[in-house]
Formats: sequence, structure tokens, C-alpha cells
Amino acid sequence: MYAEGVAVMAGRIRDEDIALVRERTAIADVISEVVTLKSAGGGNLKGLCPFHDEKSPSFNVSPARNVFYCFGCGVGGDAIKFLMDAEHLSFVESVERLAARAGIQLRYVEDDRSAPRPRPQQGQRQRLVAAHAAAVDFYRSQLTTAGARPAREFLAGRGFDRSAAERYGCGFAPDGWDLLTKHLRQQGFTHDELVTAGLSRPARSGSLIDRFRRRLMWPIRDITGDVIGFGARKLFDDDDGPKYLNTPETPIYKKSHVLYGIDQAKREIAKQGKVVVVEGYTDVMACHLADVPTAVATCGTAFGGDHISVLRRVLFDSDERAGEIIFTFDGDAAGQKAALRAFEDDQRFVGRTFIAVSPDNMDPCELRLAKGDLAVRDLVARREPLVDFALRHVIGRFDLDTVDGRVEAMRRAAPLVAKIKDREKRPEYVRKLAGDLGMEIEPVQRAVLNAAHGPQAGGAAPAAPARPGRATPAVDSPRSMVEREALKLALQEPVLAGPMFDAVEVTDYQHPVHVAVRAAVAAAGGASTATGGAVWIERVRDACDDLAGQALIGELAVEPLRIDGEPDPRYVSITMARLQWSSVTGRIRDLKSKIQRVNPVSNKDEYFALFGELLSLEQHARALREQAAGGL
Ligand SMILES: [Zn+2]
Repeated sequence: MYAEGVAVMAGRIRDEDIALVRERTAIADVISEVVTLKSAGGGNLKGLCPFHDEKSPSFNVSPARNVFYCFGCGVGGDAIKFLMDAEHLSFVESVERLAARAGIQLRYVEDDRSAPRPRPQQGQRQRLVAAHAAAVDFYRSQLTTAGARPAREFLAGRGFDRSAAERYGCGFAPDGWDLLTKHLRQQGFTHDELVTAGLSRPARSGSLIDRFRRRLMWPIRDITGDVIGFGARKLFDDDDGPKYLNTPETPIYKKSHVLYGIDQAKREIAKQGKVVVVEGYTDVMACHLADVPTAVATCGTAFGGDHISVLRRVLFDSDERAGEIIFTFDGDAAGQKAALRAFEDDQRFVGRTFIAVSPDNMDPCELRLAKGDLAVRDLVARREPLVDFALRHVIGRFDLDTVDGRVEAMRRAAPLVAKIKDREKRPEYVRKLAGDLGMEIEPVQRAVLNAAHGPQAGGAAPAAPARPGRATPAVDSPRSMVEREALKLALQEPVLAGPMFDAVEVTDYQHPVHVAVRAAVAAAGGASTATGGAVWIERVRDACDDLAGQALIGELAVEPLRIDGEPDPRYVSITMARLQWSSVTGRIRDLKSKIQRVNPVSNKDEYFALFGELLSLEQHARALREQAAGGL
């Protein structure tokens, strides 16, 4: 389709045609092909900037003014500029692309001062894409020939009928040295273009031969749907090449960015907020056909950082909305290694990464064939958080029936937990790990803390003798964490937090050292009486008769609050409500268990008294939960 209309012009596009292209192009549609956009209010849209790495969206699009602008990196302009920057097109290429989109026939002005050129001044990218489009047609037409029978059998044997093959543009590279090359040369593509595109390569004789021969062909498309390369599978036993051959690196095919199936999957990925990463072309097809339309695959390379960048923009992955990446593995060692590497690589992604391992070590294509579409959907639905997967994998290597095995497993697993950046999640995983190992929480927690703070010596060193200063489990539970936060507020921000802090009783604190510090604040006169600064910290420390408490006061006086920016009354209110809520829910639990032990017939009065207390506590808990959720 590209090869026709664009072949004969030279010179410049007429200005009024450029204006028409601008007018007929909806910039939001063009940008949506690459970046998922959400409403930013006032009719504007926003997304993650494709030109710089960011976590929250500062890339804005104004459909009314037909422009985009990024507040993060300052790039901005119209749709033509966007394509130039995003797709590395020239101005002319950009206009041509948008004109084709809008169905506008461009007219060119002859540049009369320039010498007549033998070839049109057409952009390289467009020529290479056009060559690929022509190659797709060629390979497709070959799929019905007699020689392509093994290719058709391969597809049928994988559960793909004719319509599936057509949907993915499958084709066949015929037996012969230069059939495609000749075909494309006849269509006007040059020797250099075919070599640059990776479709042909020079033989020793100097003449051009086809890169792919006697193989089943999958066209690989970029996110906008242009074919930029091919994946080719071996079909014949006497083919000495690797099982899969891919287009080499070219100006338009960068394997570190390419995701097979992204053109078909991108809308569902954006809609569902998740993406399923599989390992091969047939797996992508099988998933899509089994109604897992979010599947994509890397092409001849491991999943890496560039792939993440591509996906994050489609997922609109940001702090406001977290996208989910699900890797499927057929359970072999290579897949597991890849998953563990992902764990090492991108911490930002760890919490949103899931692993789906087929129980029978089948890939999605085999699974669909053996057990049907539902089994493929089940595989994805049964995904497991990457952290859980990694822990299970590490622990699985040890014999947990022996003490040595358990201790060694703990030492190997602790660094993984320590690596979890999201500290809120660590206590949860400490508990989980302890449970999985059948050990007490305490030693596991110590191992994790050592791995987090200790020397990077692989955890071989015995636990350091308890320093008197280290005020024991710092962040061992959400409850400890919120107690700690409340105490930090009292020490660091007494003017702001004082009244609310003093209103919460010492009995609402649970951790013994925290109780000691809370009592010291009261003994120092209460946080409401303080004006802050070093004098106040000293006063509380002097009032504290617990050694661990004194050390903790020094720590808490300088530890950053868990809030971005300045604390405000709302933050204090939320913190204190969470603290009380923890304490109230604890009392509710105790009360419930007590009520169960009271006989409502013989001890009717006591039963009703406890029951009344329970109801009022539950009401209190509800109010606190609302307050903790942010309502003052
Ligand atoms: Zn930017």
C-alpha cells in the first residue's frame, strides 16, 4: 500500500496540503497510538511522557488546540512534531504518514533549482516499512503454494486455522535463493534498501540473496501497526540454522524495544491495566485466541528495560495507577532465572510483577492445544506475585525438615525480602517467610534486618551483638510503624501534633519501647507544651528511664517522616487514628474471645455488659477507620 502512492514525487509538499493535514489530524488519536492518555480535566489529556522517563504523568495533550506539551522535559508541538520526535521521522515523512492516515492526497511542488533526482526524496523509514509491507504480501501469497505444506501443517498442528494465520499475517519464505529479492527489486526497491531492511543480504558472489528461506514467517509490527521485521521458524530437518531467526538490527527494528503482538494488544493492555508477557509468536497467538488479548512476546531477546519503558507508557503505569505485568513461564530453569533477574533489575516494578507458571510445564500454545482456551485463561488468572515466586524458588532448594536446611534457606531468602523497596510490604513477607520455613518470626526478622543494613557479605556473618542503641524491631508490623510515626511527630513537630498526640493514651501503644517513649513525652510535660527543637528532644530523653527508649528517641528525632512534603494536621489526624484503630481492633479481638467464654444464660449480666462494650468499641473503630482514611 505504501509502495504505490509515494513513489514518484520530488521536492516539497505544498503548504496548503500541510495545513490540511494539520487540520484533519486529531492529535489525541495519533498520540494514543503510543501513549495511553487519561483525562487531565478541562478537556485536556495526560500520560507518561515518551521522551523522558517519569513516574507520574506530566505529558499533556490539548485536543482543542491540537498540541502536546511535556512539563517534565519541555518537549511540545503539533502532531507532525510528535511523530518526528517519537518515531524519528523527518518532517516530510511525518506529514506523509499523517496524510495517509487522514486520506489526504499530497501534492508536491517541484523544486526547480535542484537538479532532477533519480529517486524520490522519500524518508528512509517509510521506504523500509514499504519494503516490509511488500514482503508480507509476498510471503502470504506463498503460504498457499505446494512447497509451503510443512508451514501449513505446523500452524494446523499448533491449533491455528486459516483465519488465525491470516489475522497474524503468517507466510512462507519459499525455497530459492532470491525469490523475494527479485520480487522487491521489480517493485522498485534498491539493493541498499533491501540490505538495510534486513530482508536480503549480499552473497559471496556479490549478488543479493534472501535472508529467510524455507521458513514459516511472522511479520513483526511496531506499536502503530507498521511491519518492521520478521520472525522465521525452521521447518525442515536439513535446515542448519537456529529454530528461530529474526530480522537483524536495522534502523527501524530494535529488538530491545520490539514486542510481538503489541499492535493488537495495546488497547486491551491500556483498558485492563495489565500485560501478559509470553515467550513466542505462537504463544501470543494462542493467548489472543483464548481471550487473553493482552499478550505480547519479546523477539529473540530477554525482556529488558526498554521493553518496560514501552509497556509503562501503554499501561499508564504511575503512582496513581499501577499496571500489572504478568510473565508466563513453562517452568523450566531458564524461565525461572529470567524471573529472578527481573527481580534484581527493576525494583520499581517488583511489586507489580507476577509470574504464571504452567503446572504441566507447557507453554500457552501447548496448553491451549491440550486443554483448551479456558486452561490458558486459568494459567494467567493463577498468577503469583514475583516476590512469592522468588521466595518459593529459593526455599525450594533446601530440605526444610532439617534445622540446617531451614537456617540456610532463611539466610538465602532474607536478602530477597530485604531488597523489597516498598518497606510497608516487608513485615508481611517476613511473616510469610517465617510461615513457609516453619520458624518463629523473630529470627527471620533479624536475618532480614541484617541483610538490609549489614555488610553485603552474603549473610554469612553471625548476627552482630545487639548494639545498645539499635532499638529493636523498628518496622516489624504496620502497628509498630504507625506507633513510630506518631512518636516522630511528637518529637519533630510538637507544635503541630502536640494536642492530638497528647489526647491518645499511653495504653494505645503496644511495643514496650514505644510505651516508654510515649510515657517520657508525658513526663516531659506533654507534646502540647513544647516548641520543638533540640531542647525538647533533650527534655524527653531526660524524662525517659528506659535505655532502649533513650536510644530510640535519638533515632526518631531525625528519621524522616513517611510523608512527601510537609506534615499537616490531616496527616497527624490520620496517623493518630491509625494508631488508635490498631489498639481498638486489638481490644475488640480480646473482647470477642472473652465473650465466647462467657455463658449467656448463667452469666447474663456480664454477657450483656461485654456485648455493649463490644458494640461501642466497634462503633469507635469505624469512626477511627474513617478518620484514618483521611476525613478529619
Ligand atoms: Zn517529557
